[in-house]
Amino acid sequence: MNNVIISVKDLHKKYGDFHAVKGISFDVFEGEIFGLLGPNGAGKSTTLEIIETLRPKTSGTITVDGFDLDTQPASIKKCIGVQLQTSGFYPGLNLTELIQLFAGLYNEQIDAKKLLQQVNLEDKAKVEFKKLSGGQKQRFSIATTLINKPKVIFLDEPTTGLDPQARRNLWQLIKDIQQTGTTIIITTHYMDEAEILCNRVAIVDNGQIIAIDTPDKLIDNLVDTGFEKPKEVKKANLEDVFIHLTGHSIREE
Ligand code: ADP
Ligand code: MG
Repeated sequence: MNNVIISVKDLHKKYGDFHAVKGISFDVFEGEIFGLLGPNGAGKSTTLEIIETLRPKTSGTITVDGFDLDTQPASIKKCIGVQLQTSGFYPGLNLTELIQLFAGLYNEQIDAKKLLQQVNLEDKAKVEFKKLSGGQKQRFSIATTLINKPKVIFLDEPTTGLDPQARRNLWQLIKDIQQTGTTIIITTHYMDEAEILCNRVAIVDNGQIIAIDTPDKLIDNLVDTGFEKPKEVKKANLEDVFIHLTGHSIREE
């Protein structure tokens, strides 16, 4: 039996008159990668930021690791890691300085070198944040979510704008983090990514969950309705060609 680490029940969020989240309920199990998928404006970031204690909800109940959002938000903050937008880092500080800064904020002792090794940036320890490539910035911002040794981390579109190599490299990092027992909630617009990474996904549209299951089960359900792709699927796609020709190794390193 899976342990529930996050429970969201009948969550509503109104921005003034606008009803952005309309009664969302879901559980996240310990150790899984859970994906929130949906078009722009569906309410994914709003939902995540409410669970992260960063945004007030209108109604509903949320628990994280047994702590109630209404009464124990400080305890929730301690057991989660939230990825900042890459614009949130002081551009002129080097990676070691940034890690020490975050560690200070969390009141944690942290081995910066070890953390950088974990995300494959050990040779960038003295490099300023602004000099990193897009993929390196994302890897670094994921590293900073791990500083307080969280049970759950939240990644909101971590691979948007990255080239295919950097995206694959980030998938591996996210899987490695899962292997350490950390639960991961992620949003993405890339369905191939969700299919490869996520144990379960919720599809959100207009502030409501319209489907929730494993990617495999959702695909089987669609096929069971008699759905067929309009044309025969080739055994490879253009992305496969791109990766085959340009290789898996990361660029701009
Ligand atoms: P997603 O992350 O799925 O793209 P968001 O949660 O960011 O969606 O936004 C959901 C809806 O709420 C959108 O229509 C957005 O314009 C609106 N919204 C988000 N933040 C605010 C805000 N601070 N004030 C008013 N409306 C907002
Ligand atoms: Mg969003």
